[in-house]
Amino acid sequence: MAGEPEADCLFCKIVAGEVPATVVRETDTVVAFQDINPQAPCHVLVIPKAHYRDAASLATADPALAADVLRETGAVATQLKVDASGYRVVFNTGTGAGQTVFHAHAHVLGGRGLEWPPG
Ligand code: 5GP
Ligand code: ZN
Repeated sequence: MAGEPEADCLFCKIVAGEVPATVVRETDTVVAFQDINPQAPCHVLVIPKAHYRDAASLATADPALAADVLRETGAVATQLKVDASGYRVVFNTGTGAGQTVFHAHAHVLGGRGLEWPPG
């Protein structure tokens, strides 16, 4: 069922505490943790605790939860002090765009120059 934990989902396991992560923020609905393979000095993943396969599915099924994720990206940027210099929020969607974990997540990237357009 939409939103229910998936047995084989890595990020559901992080939410459940079955896989360790360096958590930087947590609310009732959202967890933010350091990416294991950081692409910038600040590289944090913000995920809903409920399972949705991608950002659009999340926003369609639970707009308030999608807003929680988006709000937390800003809170992460402030906490890690990349808000003034600028940061990027990325939702890779689909294998062709580089999505490898099919549990919705926002990448918060900052602390270095960020080229536009991205690769
Ligand atoms: P995607 O490629 O799906 O947009 O992003 C998945 C992200 O999850 C990647 O940036 C990858 O480095 C990160 N990742 C994969 N496995 C783990 C893990 O076990 N722990 C953490 N903290 N991040 C992970
Ligand atoms: Zn999941």
